Amino acid sequence: MRNNKEELKIKKLGKWLKESNHTVILTGAGMSTESGIPDFRSQDGLWKKKDPMKLASTEALANNYDEFYEFYKMRFGSLAGHKPHKGYDILAKWEEDGLVDSIITQNIDDFHLKAGSKNVYRIHGSINEYRCSMCGTPVDRQDFMDKLPCEKCRGNLRPGIVLFGEVLPQDELSASIEEMEKAELVIVIGTSLTVYPVSQLPHITRGKKVYINREIQGSGNFDLTFQETAGDLLEKIDNVL
Ligand code: NAD
Repeated sequence: MRNNKEELKIKKLGKWLKESNHTVILTGAGMSTESGIPDFRSQDGLWKKKDPMKLASTEALANNYDEFYEFYKMRFGSLAGHKPHKGYDILAKWEEDGLVDSIITQNIDDFHLKAGSKNVYRIHGSINEYRCSMCGTPVDRQDFMDKLPCEKCRGNLRPGIVLFGEVLPQDELSASIEEMEKAELVIVIGTSLTVYPVSQLPHITRGKKVYINREIQGSGNFDLTFQETAGDLLEKIDNVL
């Protein structure tokens, strides 16, 4: 019985994907857990062990650089050796096939780009970009990992990601809002939708809204919800296209 209902929902989403003239995907940390990268708020998420506000924040960067640095060194070290899973490949293929127009991601792992997606808005930045926290000079990742000071001003180096307490890159955010306005279909995948302002993005669209997440509380005004694992579900949808 459950399977039948599930199949109908999958077919419905397949139909919406084919009919939509502008489809936008919004992803979060849950999109990468199947690649072995922990998210922030699941049972075994990163934040169960560390306090994000304390470490991934402008406060820590300014006043507690040693812990800030150790936290990111540990995080970036733990990303090494992981790669995008089949769900990422499917989204890249859908873009190539004209089924997906853009991807807005909160993830900093650059997996969408690695998998071949092209029109990607990285609204929380990327772990592949580093700069001086004082003068903004771009630096190499290795300089940050070696905890070197900035060559120009001796300032502390930092990753090019958005910290708690910082505003989002305005270009990426404006483009993401425009994408949401144009969308006839928005598929939200693997995010708890708790981090502002991304949490507000799905409310902008007048198109259909779909939510794929391992934990779902309430329908949250979505037209269709799937309490499922991202990669597996994307594969099932791909099979009905
Ligand atoms: P979050 O941890 O708040 O929520 C992740 C959600 O994904 C949870 O609700 C969880 O139930 C769900 N989930 C976990 N695994 C899933 C799976 N396999 N399939 C479907 N759903 C799954 O993450 P968020 O909403 O993205 O939080 C925001 C912050 O987390 C962002 O700022 C982002 O930069 C950061 N983050 C990024 C990474 C990464 O780049 N991979 C990793 C951890 C955190």
